[in-house]
Amino acid sequence: MYKISLITGDGIGPELSESAISVLNTIHDKLDLKFDVTQLSAGDKALSETGKALPDETVESIKQSDACLKAPVGESAADVIVVLRRMLDLYANIRPAKSYPHMPALRDDIDMVIVRENTEDLYIGKEFSLGNSSVALRIISEKASKRIAKYAFETAKQRDSVRKVTCVHKSNVMRVTDGMFARVCGEVARDYPDISFEEMYVDACAMNLIRQPERFDVVVTTNLFGDILSDESSQVVGGLGMAPAANIGDKFALFEPVHGAAFDIAGQNIANPSSFLLSIKMMFDWLGNKHNDAKCIEVGQKLESTIFDLVKSGVKTKDIGGTSSTVEFTKQIADNL
Ligand code: ATP
Repeated sequence: MYKISLITGDGIGPELSESAISVLNTIHDKLDLKFDVTQLSAGDKALSETGKALPDETVESIKQSDACLKAPVGESAADVIVVLRRMLDLYANIRPAKSYPHMPALRDDIDMVIVRENTEDLYIGKEFSLGNSSVALRIISEKASKRIAKYAFETAKQRDSVRKVTCVHKSNVMRVTDGMFARVCGEVARDYPDISFEEMYVDACAMNLIRQPERFDVVVTTNLFGDILSDESSQVVGGLGMAPAANIGDKFALFEPVHGAAFDIAGQNIANPSSFLLSIKMMFDWLGNKHNDAKCIEVGQKLESTIFDLVKSGVKTKDIGGTSSTVEFTKQIADNL
């Protein structure tokens, strides 16, 4: 029995969470993989109700669980997810961009993953005013650069695709911070002679994600660049509604969609739950590997192929060119599992 903590979030978060619970219940009942899901509050609603975007009880409950699922939260996201990433040392943010059939996508032949450093860079939130200027600290450490580079090469090693790591930075301008990041990635690359390695400036990478996305396999980059490039790569393969993410540390992991709370479509029953359901698939992979639980990995594969087949059959939400509601799409997934 796995203990799963679930932050239900803001905007479309509660709708995605209902979908996730329904699919997890189906897996629990039909596929005999046992979970105990605890719903937790964090985000804008928690802030207005309790005065804290990340209440202490939520943190405690997350720490007691085997893994955390987090639906998107709103304006207070930095006080929730950025804090959790640093508090739990979830240093690797894994954001796959994979083509699915019949997508309103730029490309239908892409299978790449962005490995984003998750604990440093401008996201440490050290900003202050200095006279009439505003300053933000951009911290890049050798230790964090090394472990994210290693994570990227280990990810490439496990993939049966091209086996290439592209280190994305801007060392021609930020010579000290990105210069070090690039150097460390290059040093780690020497330990993986079977995996090809290249460097690319972030602006060139943004262009190549549109022009030649097939050239990428694993991209490793710093926090802010990874945030921006993963929104772009998800759009290349069909949009944010299909984009999952994993925040992984040595002991714990948290899974969430790439996108935010999407207030523009909240409460309309049109959000695509696939981003969250595919995040659950990533959770199954992680739990399965951690606990040597083949069943868990198998169920994750089944969930992904069920989503794949459903979309292929033309049952899709509005964002990817269909007419199904969130609830209808979820019901189909649960039925087909
Ligand atoms: P943030 O800055 O918190 O990442 P954002 O303002 O950039 O958020 P998102 O919430 O990430 O915006 O989403 C951008 C747009 O993509 C939304 O306004 C919405 O129209 C669309 N979108 C995002 N997620 C989904 C989804 N799961 N299903 C359908 N459309 C979505």
